[in-house]
Formats: sequence, structure tokens, C-alpha cells
Amino acid sequence: MGRVYNFSAGPAVLPEEVLREAQAGMLDYNGTGMSVMEMSHRSAAFADIIETAERDIRDLMQIPDNYHVLFLQGGATQQFAAIPMNLMRNGKADYIVSGSWSKKAFKEAKLYGDARCVASSEDENFSYVPDVDAIEFSPDADYVYICQNETIYGTKYPKLPDTGSIPLVSDVSSMFLSEPIDVADYGVIYGGVQKNVGPAGVVIAIVRDDLVREDVNPLTPTIMRYTTQAEAKSLSNTPPCWGIYVCGLVFKWLKGLGGLDAMKKINEDKAAILYDFLDQSKLFEGTADASCRSLMNVPFVTGDADLDALFVSEAKDHGIQSIKGHRSVGGMRASIYNAMPKAGVQALVDFMAQFERDHS
Ligand SMILES: *Cc1c(COP(=O)(O)O)cnc(C)c1O
Repeated sequence: MGRVYNFSAGPAVLPEEVLREAQAGMLDYNGTGMSVMEMSHRSAAFADIIETAERDIRDLMQIPDNYHVLFLQGGATQQFAAIPMNLMRNGKADYIVSGSWSKKAFKEAKLYGDARCVASSEDENFSYVPDVDAIEFSPDADYVYICQNETIYGTKYPKLPDTGSIPLVSDVSSMFLSEPIDVADYGVIYGGVQKNVGPAGVVIAIVRDDLVREDVNPLTPTIMRYTTQAEAKSLSNTPPCWGIYVCGLVFKWLKGLGGLDAMKKINEDKAAILYDFLDQSKLFEGTADASCRSLMNVPFVTGDADLDALFVSEAKDHGIQSIKGHRSVGGMRASIYNAMPKAGVQALVDFMAQFERDHS
């Protein structure tokens, strides 16, 4: 069987060129006579891999020198705890809850301090992003937390909240490296890489240096302290070597495409194919509010659960896989990450058009 168009929300599609390059080095990476999976994380070859990866992501995102780039483990979910533990000095934080992921992060933060939900879109099943201009942040909050692209509901912040001097913390898991962002707008940017950047097992955290401090919650495990990871350059213990290596290949792939400006144009192009179809369709309807649609995750429904199920099963015969929606929205969800080719989105829309003709 050949490769399919994989619309999975994560772990998700990776660029075929990257998979081929990883395959080519599988038994003998760069003349070392071993796979990256087999080599010491203290070896010169791996030092070169992680240092090059850091340089390349710094280049791609134009990360200022006063930010650390940390390659971590534990998933984005571990950062739900690491962030309050490392950042709550006054014991206070403001959370905007715009979906399941920010809701989970908010719940976790309450274990460590006084986390306050300052806005929520749960009243409309998270189909929109709260109006950030209407929010009054607590002046003594240690940080303001957002999940910038909510993977399940397919929303993205149309603009960032203005938090003044309060650091903004953003979970960018499902939009990592999909478009340029201004790193200086944030205190912490982090994400699990398995959505848009690499294989599961790596979390990248970009942390402003004034937030890497010794005076953290005293119960913070050593391995979860940003100081530990920053001082050891992510090599305090064995890092996810293979995952970091593949992320590095993806960084090179992105640079080869022309960087994040070029990637954004490609992503806008792909998303427009799908949204334009949804906007004129009489059968399918996008569930996210048009003001805050994600470029990466596109949930849609027919309004009839049986017809949705039929669509998902027939799509498979057209090489379209993992398109079933999350149970909290139902219907379908197409995750059209960086590595999803335009031809894949076109194949999906062609099939949707055919399905609509057959069922109306
Ligand atoms: C998938 C996802 C997570 C959870 O990631 P894990 O690596 O499984 O912990 C958190 N936030 C967002 C936005 C996600 O899409």
C-alpha cells in the first residue's frame, strides 16, 4: 500500500522528503556507522545535531538572544504543570479558556496557585476565541496563558491579548512553525512537536531569560525546572535524541521552502481551498466562527451523524484517512499541517463535492 493523505490531528503527517532522509541515515548516520537512535547523547555527532537544530529554529523564528530554546519531554501536558511551577511567584495567573487544551492547562494550574479564568468561550462549545480587548487582567498576575490554536475546535487567535508588562504564555502545539510570529510578544512559547514539527516525544519551549529563575515553587522537580534545562542546554538527562534529529530535518525542510513567510502563504492557500468549499456547500458546514478560523485544523459537519460516519468511511476508499472529528465536536476534522500537500486538500475537497452530489 502506498502513502495516504493523512489528516490526523497528531501525531500527524511529516514531509516525505524528511522521512526519506531519516530512512537514508537509518543504519549509518553521516558515516558514523550507527543510527541516531543508537548514539550517545554526549557524542560529537549528537552535539552537532542538537546545536544545528537550535540554530535553525532560531533562524526560522528569528528568536532573540534573550530567549532560551529548550528541547524537553513529557508532552505539552507536562508544561501545563511546569509553567505554573516555574512562573508563579505571586501565586497568581490569568487563563483564557478557548478550548479543551487551555481548559486542561487552567485546571492543572489551580493545583499550584490562584489561577483565574478571565474569559471563556465554553458557552458556544468553544467555536470562537473570546474578545481579548474586553478582558481585564489581574495587575499582579505572574503570567497570562493562552492556547493560540485550539486543535479540537479549529480556532486561532485573530490577535494576541495586550497584557502590558505581564508575560504572555502560549501553547502553540498545533500551529508551531506554520507562520511567522513575533517571539518578543511572549514570555513563553511552547508546543509538543507531534502536530506540526516532528515525531511524538519532544516539546520545544522558548523561554525569555528573566523567566528562567531559581525562585520557583520549591516542589518543582529538578528535571522540570527551566534553570536545569537551560544550564544543561537540554542535556541534563538523556533527551529524546531521535525526535530532536527529525525536528532538525524538518527545520532544514522549512528553510528550503523559504522559511515561515513562504510556509504561511502555502498554508493560507491550502486552507482557502477547504474554507471556500465549505462556505458555498449546502451539505457541509465549518463549525468554527469565521472570525477566528485556524489554518491548521478544520472541523466540519453535515448535521447528520449517520451521514458523517458514511463520509468518514467512504473517504478511506479515496486515500483520505484520519478525518473523523473529535468526539466533542463530532463530524469531521481535517488537520492540514505544514506537511499536508496541496494535492491532499484538493483530493479532500473533490471527494466532498462528489459526496455532496451523491447525497442531496
Ligand atoms: C495535542 C495538544 C496538547 C497535548 O499534547 P501532548 O504532547 O499529548 O501532551 C496540548 N495542547 C495542544 C494545543 C495540543 O494540540
